[in-house]
Amino acid sequence: MTTKEKSRVLEHQSLELLNQAVAIMEESFTNANLPSYDSSLDHEQTMQLQTVLNEVATRLKDNFPYPHPLYAGQMIKPPHVVARLAYTLALWFNPNNHALDGGRASSLMEKEAVANLALMLGFREHLGHLTSGGTMANLEALWVADRLHPGKTIVASSQAHYTHSRISEVLKIPFKSVPVDARARMDVAELESMLQSNDIGTVVVTTGTTATGSIDPLTEILELQKKYKFRIHIDAAYGGYFKLAENLSDHARRVFDALGEADSIVIDPHKHGLQPYGCGCVLFKDPSVGRFYKHDSPYTYFSSNELHLGEISLECSRPGASAVALWATQKLLPMETNSLFAKNISTCRKTALDLCQKLMHDDRFTVPFEPELDIVVFAVKAQSASLSSEKAKEIFARAANAGLHLAVANLPAQFFKQKMPDINWDQDTIACLRSCLMKPEHQEWLPEIWGILTNSVLRNS
Ligand SMILES: *Cc1c(COP(=O)(O)O)cnc(C)c1O
Repeated sequence: MTTKEKSRVLEHQSLELLNQAVAIMEESFTNANLPSYDSSLDHEQTMQLQTVLNEVATRLKDNFPYPHPLYAGQMIKPPHVVARLAYTLALWFNPNNHALDGGRASSLMEKEAVANLALMLGFREHLGHLTSGGTMANLEALWVADRLHPGKTIVASSQAHYTHSRISEVLKIPFKSVPVDARARMDVAELESMLQSNDIGTVVVTTGTTATGSIDPLTEILELQKKYKFRIHIDAAYGGYFKLAENLSDHARRVFDALGEADSIVIDPHKHGLQPYGCGCVLFKDPSVGRFYKHDSPYTYFSSNELHLGEISLECSRPGASAVALWATQKLLPMETNSLFAKNISTCRKTALDLCQKLMHDDRFTVPFEPELDIVVFAVKAQSASLSSEKAKEIFARAANAGLHLAVANLPAQFFKQKMPDINWDQDTIACLRSCLMKPEHQEWLPEIWGILTNSVLRNS
């Protein structure tokens, strides 16, 4: 694993597989009733293409090393090779999943892939589709929520993704933030006192917050729902795939087993689903909400009386290639318990727990709580919150220089006060180190990660 060994970070042998697959697609033209047409490039065109491509490759070198196991910072990892290849294959047709007229095969593949996600998350019936990402998926869910409870307030925890308050602003829906407890979970008592005002239409439950991977107490919120009758939307953009993990805490297990009781769910295949960016998904339990999307397009839906995805989606043109890539990934790596896909998700959580153990046994660091998913956050011990924050940023920079890429997150002091009672709380947030251990390879590389991290702590601290 040393840097001296030959490295092959960017797999490319698989590119050869594309030739045969493209030849198979070509058959659709040889069998079609079309005159011959040749799109081959001549020598000069090929040379020009190469010049530009090489320039692009040179430009792209200016990036953090996302595909390497020592990149353990933000929620970023390259797609699975099968997603990369299937996406590329689809580009020869460039299907548009807005309508069957624009993408017949890829629309069907989208319906199948989305049905698999719905099944995995626990919806027996569903209406859903892919989106450009979690933001658009959440926007559709909140839009539908507002159609059903017009004028009522939407609430999400103070640790929910900022997209919810911003979307509510865009949609002109009243929005309130619910305080969290010391484990960054929505505080149910606070929620209940807000519900007593009777103006809350929808509660957004985050199962895997973006900063710390914390999981709101869905089962208690479902109990409150019986009394106060509100809609539950689950933001599982990051956490959704952890439903398949075999090593969750009891709390997380209860929540993931109850996902199917919510009214809508968002999951991002481009986060933990091994997909290229541009792949989110929104799912509704009640298919009849499709009525809200109703519109008449004068020029779109003519090839078939079957459901066109554009009839149940706010975005119009959408990449069929995204659906093709997701479908291919699910084919190679079925989303079943005990599958390789599930094992890899479990491995990510195990790596986070292992790193957490090491941090807890090292008196230079403070871990606020055990990770629920694969995100670990930790503070650096110091006399004050401001000094601790400074040290975290220094370690972040030193580790990056030594090849280990972490992230920094500003978290409320509330998460740390119990564990760091003696320090001077001169500010109400603390800059912490944050690591998303979302590659299964992080497990094998943990000794390396730990070595660089501890070496990056300044000697005099
Ligand atoms: C990433 C994320 C979002 C936003 O999704 P995008 O795909 O970045 O648009 C929303 N909610 C949560 C919990 C997320 O982790």
